[in-house]
Amino acid sequence: MKRLGINTLFKFPNVPDFARSNFESHFIYADKVMLVFLGIQWFIATFITSITYSTYTYGFLSGGLITFSLMGAYRYFKGTQVMRALVAVAMMLFSLVFIQQHLGRIEMHFHIFIAMAILSLYKDIVPVFVAAATTILHHVVFNTLQFYEVTLFDMPVMIFNYGCGFDIVLLHGVFVIAEAFIVGYIIKLQIEYGVELNKSENKILGLNQELSFTSLHDSLTGLPNRYNLHSKLDIIVANANRYQRKFAILFLDLDHFKNINDTLGHNIGDTLLKSVAKRLQSLVRENDLIARIGGDEFIIILNDVEDIHRLEQVIIKILDSFRREWMIQDHLLRLSASIGVAIYPDDSTEINELMKFADLAMYKAKSGGRDQFNFFTSTLNHQIHEEVAIANDLHRALKDNEFVLFYQPKIEISTGKIIGAEALIRWNHPSRGMIFPDKFITIAENTGFILKLGSWIIDETARMIGRLCQKGYNEIHVSCNVSTRQFQNLNLYSEIENALIKNDIPVGLFAIEITESVMMEYLEVTLETLKKIKSLGIHICMDDFGTGYSSLSYLRQFPIDSLKIDKSFVDDITEGGDNSHLLLNTIIAMGETLNLHIIAEGVEEAYQMEYLFEKGCPYYQGYYFSKAIAEENFFTLCEINRAK
Ligand code: C2E
Ligand code: CA
Ligand code: CA
Repeated sequence: MKRLGINTLFKFPNVPDFARSNFESHFIYADKVMLVFLGIQWFIATFITSITYSTYTYGFLSGGLITFSLMGAYRYFKGTQVMRALVAVAMMLFSLVFIQQHLGRIEMHFHIFIAMAILSLYKDIVPVFVAAATTILHHVVFNTLQFYEVTLFDMPVMIFNYGCGFDIVLLHGVFVIAEAFIVGYIIKLQIEYGVELNKSENKILGLNQELSFTSLHDSLTGLPNRYNLHSKLDIIVANANRYQRKFAILFLDLDHFKNINDTLGHNIGDTLLKSVAKRLQSLVRENDLIARIGGDEFIIILNDVEDIHRLEQVIIKILDSFRREWMIQDHLLRLSASIGVAIYPDDSTEINELMKFADLAMYKAKSGGRDQFNFFTSTLNHQIHEEVAIANDLHRALKDNEFVLFYQPKIEISTGKIIGAEALIRWNHPSRGMIFPDKFITIAENTGFILKLGSWIIDETARMIGRLCQKGYNEIHVSCNVSTRQFQNLNLYSEIENALIKNDIPVGLFAIEITESVMMEYLEVTLETLKKIKSLGIHICMDDFGTGYSSLSYLRQFPIDSLKIDKSFVDDITEGGDNSHLLLNTIIAMGETLNLHIIAEGVEEAYQMEYLFEKGCPYYQGYYFSKAIAEENFFTLCEINRAK
C-alpha cells in the first residue's frame, strides 16, 4: 500500500532537465527577495516597538538578530533547501515578535498567514510546511510559558490576549496546517502549469529546431554544414578571446575519394562518408567540432590547443584511423586523408583567412604525396604565393617560347655508346633564369596546364628525333615524360600520332616514360589508353620503377618495353659496402623474365655502373656520363660517340 504522505499527496511533476538550472537561479533569486522581506519586517518591528514600549531596542535587537543571521546563512546556503527552511523559521520568528509586542493580540496572528503566503513565492512546499511546524511549536511553547506564568528576561510571553489553553493552540494549529496544505496545493498547480507551458513552448521550439536542423546540417552525415560552421565559429572565437585560448582548424580531405565514387558507385561513396563522419566523431572531444563542407571535405575544430605536440598527436591519431580498413557494404576499402592545419590566433584572427590557410596547408599535404598533414606557415604562404605567380606565368611562357628540352644521354654499358636520350624540360625564364621542372611540373599538373605543355613536349620530342635523323643518327631514340594528368586526356593518343606523322619519323625512336603511380591510379582507363598508344609502335618505358606498387602480375598486363630502375636503388650501391641488394637484384631478374630492357637512372659513380652491369642491367643514365644538356651539346656528344 502506498504510504500517505506529503510526497503522494503533492505528487509534483518531474522537472525536465533543461529547466533544472533555471530552478537553481530561481531559488537564489527568491532567497534575495526573502532577505528584503525580512529587512522590511525588521524595520516594522523596530518602528512598532518604539510606539508600544516607547523604546525601539527590543524590536531593533530581535529583528536585527533574525535578519543578520539569515544574511549569514545566505552566504553558505543560498539556493538550497536548508536556506528555504531557515527563511521559513525566520519569517515565523517575526510573527512571534509582532504577537508578543502586542501582548498576544489576536489580529497580530494574521502575520503568520501573510508570511506563509510570501513563502509561497519560492514555489516550493517545504518552507511552507516548515513555517507551519515552527508556528505550532512556538504556540505550544509560549502557551505553556503563559499557562505557568513563566517570564523570560522581563519580556512578555503572552501569546493569546484572551487567556490561554491547549484547545486554542489546537484550533490555531488546525488553521495553520490547513493553510499550509492550501498553499502547497496551489504551488503544485503552479508548477504543473509551468511545466505544461514549458512543454508546449518546447514543442514549438522543437519544431523550429527541426526546421533549422535540416538547413544547418548536412543531410547525409548529420554533421553541421558550412553555414552552421561559420555561426559556431563566431562563438568559438569569442570564447577563445575571452579565455585567451587557441584553437586549431583542420581542413581534412579524403585521398582519391573520386576513384571510389567512380568505380564503386555513389551509394558506396555515401555510406563511406557516413562512416568517416562517425569515426571522426569518435576521435575528438565533446567540445570539438566537426563539419562537412563539401563532397569529401571536412573541417575539424580542436579547442584549447596550447600544446602543439599534443595537437600533432591528435592529428596523427586521425590519420591513423583512416589507414585502418573500411568495410563498406562487403567492400574492403583502403583510405587515407590529407590534413591542413591553421591555428587561431597565431596564423590569423580572421576566420575566412584561417580557413583559407588551412586549405592551403591541406593542398600542400596533397602535393607532398597525400596521407599526411601540414601546418600552415608563413613560408608555406610565401611558397604558395610563388606557386600562384608561377601558375599565372606558365601560359605566357609557352607563348613566348621559354620552355626548352634538355637531353640526358642513355648509355649502353658494354660499348659505352649513346643509345638514346631522355628529354627533360627546362624553363628559360627572362628574369628568374633557368627554372627546373620540380618548381613547375606539379603546379602545371594541378592547374591542368600540363595538358598544353605536355603536347608541346611530345611535339618537340618528335621534332628533335627528326633533327637527329637529319644528321644521320637514326639509331638514337628520345623519350619524353608523360604525367598522369595527360593520361586522363582522351587526346593523348592522337597527339602522339599527329606528332609522329607531322615529323615523319621512325616510330620506334619515339619513347614515352610513365611512372608506376600513373598506371595504378586509374588502372582500367590507363591500361586501355596505353594499349592504344602502344599500337602506334612507339616504345614505352616504366619510370621510377620499384618505388610504387610493383607487382609482377600487374607488370605482365602492361604493354611496356622497358623498366627504369629508380635512382634510390642506385644510391644504395656504395663503394666497398655490403652490396647484397636483394630488391635491386629481384627487379633486374624480374625485368629479364618479362623480356624488358632494363635501364638504371641516377648513376653517378663508376662502381655503381659496374655493379649494375654485373647484375645484368645493360643500360644506364646519370651524371657519371652526363647531366641533361642543351640540344647543341647533345649533338656534340653524339658526334664524339659516332667517332668511337
Ligand atoms: P625523372 O623523370 O625521374 O627524371 C630524372 C631526374 O633526375 C632529372 O631531373 C635528371 O636531371 C635527374 N638526374 C639524372 N641523372 C642524375 C644523377 O646522376 N644524379 C642526380 N642527382 N640526378 C640525376 P629533372 O630534369 O630536374 O627532372 C625532375 C623530374 O621532373 C623528372 O623526374 C620528371 O618527373 C619531371 N620532368 C622533367 N621533365 C619533364 C617533362 O618534360 N614532362 C613531365 N611530365 N615531367 C618532367
Ligand atoms: Ca623520366
Ligand atoms: Ca626517374
